[in-house]
Amino acid sequence: TAPLAEVDPDVAAAMAGELARQRETLEMIASENFVPRAVLQAQGSVLTNKYAEGYPGRRYYGGCEHVDIVENLARDRAKALFGAEFANVQPHAGAQANAAVLHALMKPGERLLGLDLAHGGHLTHGMRLNFSGKLYEVGFYGVDPTTFRIDMDAVRKQALEFQPKVIVAGWSAYPRQQDFAAFRSIADEVGARLWVDMAHFAGLVAADLHPSPVPHADIVSTTVHKTLGGPRSGLIMGTKEWEKPINSAVFPGQQGGPLMHAIAAKAVAFKIAASEEFAQRQQRTLSGAKIIAERLTHADVADKGITVLTGGTDVHLVLVDLRNSDLDGKQGEDLLHEAGITVNRNAVPFDPRPPMVTSGLRIGTAALATRGFGDDEFTKVADIIAAALTGARDVEQLRSEVTNLAKDFPLYEGLEDWRLI
Ligand code: PLP
Repeated sequence: TAPLAEVDPDVAAAMAGELARQRETLEMIASENFVPRAVLQAQGSVLTNKYAEGYPGRRYYGGCEHVDIVENLARDRAKALFGAEFANVQPHAGAQANAAVLHALMKPGERLLGLDLAHGGHLTHGMRLNFSGKLYEVGFYGVDPTTFRIDMDAVRKQALEFQPKVIVAGWSAYPRQQDFAAFRSIADEVGARLWVDMAHFAGLVAADLHPSPVPHADIVSTTVHKTLGGPRSGLIMGTKEWEKPINSAVFPGQQGGPLMHAIAAKAVAFKIAASEEFAQRQQRTLSGAKIIAERLTHADVADKGITVLTGGTDVHLVLVDLRNSDLDGKQGEDLLHEAGITVNRNAVPFDPRPPMVTSGLRIGTAALATRGFGDDEFTKVADIIAAALTGARDVEQLRSEVTNLAKDFPLYEGLEDWRLI
C-alpha cells in the first residue's frame, strides 16, 4: 500500500513531468485525447489483477463473476452506441483489433486492398513491414493527384482488376469523409468483404456528426482512445454472422487474458460517449478543425507556400501541406513545439521529402475540445499556429499566449498523486 512516489520516485517523477506537460502545453496530436477521471479510475484499478481468458459466462478461470458484469456492460454499451449486432471489447489496442479482423476475414496469401500508407492509410492496412503486408497479398488505392480525395471510380477499377478478398476503408490521415455505401457496392461487385477501420472518427460517428460505417461494413474496428476519448485499446463490431469468427480470432487467435481494467475503462467511456456533453464536445472538435483549416488558408499563410490539403476538413483534423514551402514537416513540428503546441509531422500524398522529414503536419482538435476549447479558443490557436509557421511573430510571445490559454482550461484538477486517481 506504499504510494508510488515512495516505492518508485523515478517513475513517479517522470509521471508528474508528463502530467505537467499535458497541463501546460496544447495537445493537438490528432490521435490523442484526455480521458475523463472516471476512466482513469477504472483503468488504474484492481481489475488489472484478474485473469479472465474466454468470454462472459464461458471463462477458463474462476472468480470471473464481477469482471463478467464489466465486460457485458462494455459490450452492450458499444453495441447500443454504434447500432452494431455484436461487439468484442477485448483487443488490447487498435493494431491487435485489426490483426484479429484480418485473421477472421481472410487466410494468409489472400488479397487485401487498402488505402496507401503514404496517402493516409494505416500500418495494419497492408504496409510491407507490418504483419498485414507480410501475411497477405496487398494492393493499394490512393488519392487523386489533383483533388487529394479518394476517387471511388478509381477504387472500383482497381478492385475489379485486383479482385481482393477484403477491402479496407478508414484512415489515419485523411481530412474528408469516405463514401461507405460506394465501398459496399464495390465490395459486392467483386465479391469482397468490407472492413472499415474507423479509429480516427469513431467519436464523431458516436455523436452522429459523421456517417456511420456500421450499416455498410461486414466488420468495423476502432481504437477507443482517439476521438472516442476512452482508454488506449481496441474494439471490433459487425454483423451477427461474424461474431463467432471474430471472437475466436481475438481469443484464442491473437490474445490470452483480456485487460479487464482496460475493459472497465471502455465500459465507462462508452457510457460517457452516449451523453449530451460528449456530443457537444464532438461538435466543438469538428467546428475547431474547420476554424483551423479556414485560418490556415488565409493569404498571409498561402504567401509562404503553406496550404491545407483538400482546402478544408470534414473531420477532427487538418493536414497542412508544406510541399511548396521552404519549411518542412520536421521544422514545422519543432517550431510549434517551441510555441507549446504538440502536433506530428506527417507525409502528404506524393510527398517529395523523406519520411523522417515530410512535407506535412497533422493537426487535431479532439484533445483541446475535451479540455473545453470552443470556437473562440480555436480561433486563437489557429492564429498562433499560422504566426509560428510563417515566422510572423516571436515564438517566445506565442509560447506565453499558449501558456495562458492552457491555464484558462485546467486539466485534471486535484490529481496530484496516485491516491487521487
Ligand atoms: N487504425 C488506425 C486507422 C489508426 O490510426 C491507428 C493508430 O494510430 C490504429 C489502427 C492502431 O491503433 P494502436 O496504436 O492502438 O495499435
